[in-house]
Amino acid sequence: MAAGPWRRPTEELDPDAAISVRGLVKRYGDRAAVDGIDLDIRRGEIFALLGPNGAGKTTTVEVLEGFRDRDDGEVRVLGVDPATGGRRWKADLGIVLQSGAGDSQLTCRELLQAQASYYPDPRDPGEVLALVGLTEKAGARGRTLSGGQRRRLDVALGIVGRPKLLFLDEPTTGFDPEARRQFWALVRELRELGTTILLTTHYLDEAEALADRVGVIAHGRVLEIGVPGELGGRGLAPAVVSWTEDGVRRTAETATPTAFVRELAARFPGEVPDLAVSRPTLEDTYLRMIGDRP
Ligand code: ATP
Repeated sequence: MAAGPWRRPTEELDPDAAISVRGLVKRYGDRAAVDGIDLDIRRGEIFALLGPNGAGKTTTVEVLEGFRDRDDGEVRVLGVDPATGGRRWKADLGIVLQSGAGDSQLTCRELLQAQASYYPDPRDPGEVLALVGLTEKAGARGRTLSGGQRRRLDVALGIVGRPKLLFLDEPTTGFDPEARRQFWALVRELRELGTTILLTTHYLDEAEALADRVGVIAHGRVLEIGVPGELGGRGLAPAVVSWTEDGVRRTAETATPTAFVRELAARFPGEVPDLAVSRPTLEDTYLRMIGDRP
């Protein structure tokens, strides 16, 4: 099924949203990197922005952060137009860029203390180190940290100012599986503390695990926005049941997996060998959506 074009919910900006965007356009020369994006991100949600390389994610996020001007469209971030956002507005943002600041001669604690001094109501640096699991590295210089630890330090620097809105740009690149799980727990904890989070990632399992909603963009346009379980009609996709019978692996597609498994179970005296029921993953759905594009 081809993904339909994303239609704007209303013409008006949503005044209650953490981020509200209508008709955002950014051109480089005569090419539109962002070509009319509409987006509302609710306060308190984790929103993942997905899309292939060059889709326009970073450009969009940089406009939202106030780092890049736009050619057209309306944008409000925490109620303010980023093009005119001042210091107080910036103090409510936490930004974790792709390339971090971990290559420092300063210790983790010193880096956090320095960063905290820029904000009116910072978190305690020691608490932040504990939150990201770097307490034991408080006295270590940034440059002596492993890749995954540096990324945690980047996040620590991004949240020490107690942001209302946190931008995480590909935060877990280079993490080992355990570090990723720990990082996901941290992101969920930040949401519990009331932080709105805009995440860009190429890891579809990360988006599925963390995001309340995801937005898929390609060629500077939104293809679809939805909860991960329903994106691209995923919630309605048939289930695949697989099992082993007479030494042969068998699979069947069915819209009614419960009834199917019940019938299957009646044919076997005990457990159905190697029984598994699966649905398309977010990655399957995403790749199909992207592949549908011209
Ligand atoms: P990735 O997943 O690779 O980070 P992305 O979705 O973040 O990609 P962008 O970095 O926003 O994509 O780039 C969107 C398009 O705009 C690309 O075609 C890119 O080449 C182009 N672009 C980005 N920055 C500039 C710039 N400063 N000058 C000219 N073109 C640019």
